[in-house]
Amino acid sequence: MRPEEILKKRWGYDIFKPLQKEAIEAALAGRDCLVVLPTGGGKSLCYQLPAAMGKGLVLVVSPLIALMDDQVAAAREAGLAADALHSNLKSGPKREAYRNLASGRTELLYVSPERLLVGDLAEDIAGRAVLIAVDEAHCVSHWGHEFRPEYRRLAEAMDRVPKAARMALTATATPAVQEDIRVQLALREPEVFVGHPDRPNLIYRAFPRRDQFKQTLEAVRRHSGEGGIVYAQTRKDVERLAAGLKEAGISCAPYHAGLAAEERRKAQEDFVGERLDVIVATIAFGMGIDRSNVRCVVHANTPRSVEHYQQESGRAGRDGLSAECVLFFAASDLAAHRYLAKKDLMSPERERAVERQLREIGRYAVAPVCRHSLLSGHFGAPYPPVKSGRAEAPVPHFFQKGQSAGPVPDGSSVKEDNGDKYPEPEEARGCGACDVCLGETKGLPEEEARLTAKKALSAAWRTEGRFGTGYVVKLLLGKDDERMARYGHDKLQVFGLLKDAGEAAVRSWIDQLIVQDFLEVVDDRLYPLLRITDAGRALCRDEGSVRLGAPVPPKAEVKGKKKAKKAGHTLAAVLRTEDEELFERLRALRRSIADKAGIPPYVIFHDSVLIEMAASKPQTLYHLRVIKGMGGQKLEKYGRLFLDAIAGESPRKGVRS
Ligand code: ADP
Ligand code: ZN
Repeated sequence: MRPEEILKKRWGYDIFKPLQKEAIEAALAGRDCLVVLPTGGGKSLCYQLPAAMGKGLVLVVSPLIALMDDQVAAAREAGLAADALHSNLKSGPKREAYRNLASGRTELLYVSPERLLVGDLAEDIAGRAVLIAVDEAHCVSHWGHEFRPEYRRLAEAMDRVPKAARMALTATATPAVQEDIRVQLALREPEVFVGHPDRPNLIYRAFPRRDQFKQTLEAVRRHSGEGGIVYAQTRKDVERLAAGLKEAGISCAPYHAGLAAEERRKAQEDFVGERLDVIVATIAFGMGIDRSNVRCVVHANTPRSVEHYQQESGRAGRDGLSAECVLFFAASDLAAHRYLAKKDLMSPERERAVERQLREIGRYAVAPVCRHSLLSGHFGAPYPPVKSGRAEAPVPHFFQKGQSAGPVPDGSSVKEDNGDKYPEPEEARGCGACDVCLGETKGLPEEEARLTAKKALSAAWRTEGRFGTGYVVKLLLGKDDERMARYGHDKLQVFGLLKDAGEAAVRSWIDQLIVQDFLEVVDDRLYPLLRITDAGRALCRDEGSVRLGAPVPPKAEVKGKKKAKKAGHTLAAVLRTEDEELFERLRALRRSIADKAGIPPYVIFHDSVLIEMAASKPQTLYHLRVIKGMGGQKLEKYGRLFLDAIAGESPRKGVRS
């Protein structure tokens, strides 16, 4: 059978996603390759499909032991003879895995790197392994963000299986990491397939943080009943946010390294099993999470780097359906990261790298520029993706131009009531899926930005770097403070100069000036002090240029909120209200099957399959079979059950479909 036929028969998909076919063909021809595809790009199929060709054993090396059982379950649902070998395995499944391997039945074997490095496993499979796939291959690189020393020894183990082709897979794409992977895994003249990093189904939003809890709750509420992850910086923040959300009626649990292992395990399992909607976590959470229908990822604090942000936010919308990623930014988060980083002794080189990363994520969060284009740019890719060559952006099933991740079905795009006041920045046209392009954050016109910046900068200049941000904000707002009078600052020209803008805007502008290096926060022995930089002084002399974004004024915000809700809400965008109820019923059925089988619900069907069922209400196995993602074995195993559920309450019962 040809790969296309297997794709259809086993997985129920008609076409390959970008670069899947190329990677599969390389593997089948025995060539080494490096596959860089964003999360949700369909990396697993690149090695699972060759395993289904019946040409020999495919070995998958992955550091994510926590995920392996779910991956094995998913592969088995596609009808593959799959097993895993790792240290957490119970004795029953372990014996079975060895028995299958010995009898030659195994088609796909997941192993931890440690397991491959010890004993004779490599020699045992050398005769029949056709492909060794190394997942999360960036772990081999010091340049990446998850270096694993044991990954450096994989090449040695793979050398003992010389005939097998090697496939390295990762979502992290910087050229330095790619080169490291190639060298460290000793890839032999590999073909390199790099997909576009953009995730068109994600809506990105970044706003200045005003009220962490309130803003987080608002974002989570846009996705009530759906899966969400909230990331916060400290355990204390996690506890506080989780308690607040719970009190507000959200099904949620905290997750951080300070909790008992048992409690963490339960939270994770409940989340994956869809018995829990929202996890509030420090970054300790996520590596082991493959739930495909996470509909929002909220960063209540700023992450450490754009790479971290891409990875953490990337846990949203793996199924290709619309999902939302919101970041609430404050410059003080960057200071906290800097402080933590400095606690570890760092080389000057490392220190510079940390500074650069903080500046980059700060810029991402405050620049009034299309966030999709900023993220793509960070990873060196043009935006919008160029429609030629192999590196074409994946277009998920429900994503179409004009009806993108932020579909506003009634055509009331926020862009239209943009008013004349704020022209859209050049880059901001048309992604339709970020706060800037949706008109929720607006760039100030050049002149206004310069003037505003100069006002804020002169306040910092006048106070001679002897006060903190809070004081400078008060000065610009013209607030009474006994210190103002004491220092004679209430007599300064800058006193009350930005009074009309309001505190939130002034604070945000100062943050924006910090990340653009016009202001800096210096640590005094007692307080962090705000100081103007050389670049800031130059700007005051009209040298250089500045960008400032303005939070949407309060009146428009009410409107924006309604629209944001629509733009962020996922199901309403694809299902009519009456079908939503059926969808929920199908979801409940899926959950009960999953519970009984002890596997995660998404392994049975993705949300997209349930959505199509709810919308098209198939009445026969034949009609069910055409749904994308309905593999042959799944149809046999679950088809009847779902048809019954659909027929049970279908208003169109008895009508020809
Ligand atoms: P990654 O590992 O790159 O994050 P996955 O392998 O988890 O991505 O795949 C993401 C989703 O895309 C999965 O739900 C998978 O079933 C689906 N998928 C994979 N290949 C295809 C395809 N050719 N057509 C449609 N969906 C696909
Ligand atoms: Zn945009």
